[in-house]
Amino acid sequence: MKSKKVLIVEDNDLNRKLFENLIGQLYNFQSAVNGLEAIDYLTKEHFDLILMDIQMPRMDGISALKRIQHNELTESPVIAVTAFAEETDRISFLKMGFSDFITKPIRPKEFLESIASHLSRSKKSSEDLAQTSLTASILDKSVIFQLMKYNSQETIKAVIRDFLLDTSSLVKKLEIALAEKNEQDLLENLHILKGNSGTLGANSIYLIAKDTETFIRADNWTLVEEGIAKLNREKSIFETYISKEFIFKL
Ligand code: MN
Repeated sequence: MKSKKVLIVEDNDLNRKLFENLIGQLYNFQSAVNGLEAIDYLTKEHFDLILMDIQMPRMDGISALKRIQHNELTESPVIAVTAFAEETDRISFLKMGFSDFITKPIRPKEFLESIASHLSRSKKSSEDLAQTSLTASILDKSVIFQLMKYNSQETIKAVIRDFLLDTSSLVKKLEIALAEKNEQDLLENLHILKGNSGTLGANSIYLIAKDTETFIRADNWTLVEEGIAKLNREKSIFETYISKEFIFKL
C-alpha cells in the first residue's frame, strides 16, 4: 500500500530515472525537471516529501526552495540532492532551510533510508501532539519494527549499540565545539545525530538535536548550551530505556 507521495525534482534524465525506480518501489511519486515545474505541482497537490536537485535550468533548487518558503507551498520536508561535496556547501543547505541533503552519486540503501526516516517523522509529528506517553517519545518502536523487516534482530541490536557509542562521541564533540563556539562543527555533528536518531526512531534525541540546530541559527547560545546538556541526559535515558526493554536486550 503506497500512501505517501514524493515529488522528485531533477533535470538529469539518468538521475531522475534512478530516483523514480528506487522511490517507485515504496511510494507514489511525481517528477519535475526544474524548479518552476516543481512549484507548479506544489500549488496543485500535496506531497509528503520533496527531493530537490540544486543545479537545474530555468529555476534551480535554491530559488525553488525560497519560492516554496515565501509562498508557504508546503510544510513537508524538502531534501536537497546535491553534487557539491564540500562541507561549507552542505552546512549552508541546512541553513537555507532544507531539511536534509543527499549527496550524488547516491547510495540506494542510504537514499531510501533517509527518505523513509523523513517520511515517518512527518507522519508522526501530528500524531505526537496527541501522544502524552513519555516512553513513546523516547523510542518509536514502529521504526525499529520497520527496520526488523529488512534486518535480523542481531543486526538491530548491533545498530543500537553503535548508535549509543556514536551518540556519546557526538555529544562530546558538541561539547568541544560549544566551548569553541565552532558553529560549523556544531551543525555538522547535530546533523549526524539527527540522521542517526531519526533512522532509529529515537524521537526525543532527534527533537532536541533539531531544536539545538535552530538555536544555533538564531544565535541563542544559552539555549544551545541547554540543548547539548539535554542531549547528554537524553542519551542516558535512552540507554536505560533500551536496557529495560526485553525485546531489545543488548
Ligand atoms: Mn541538476
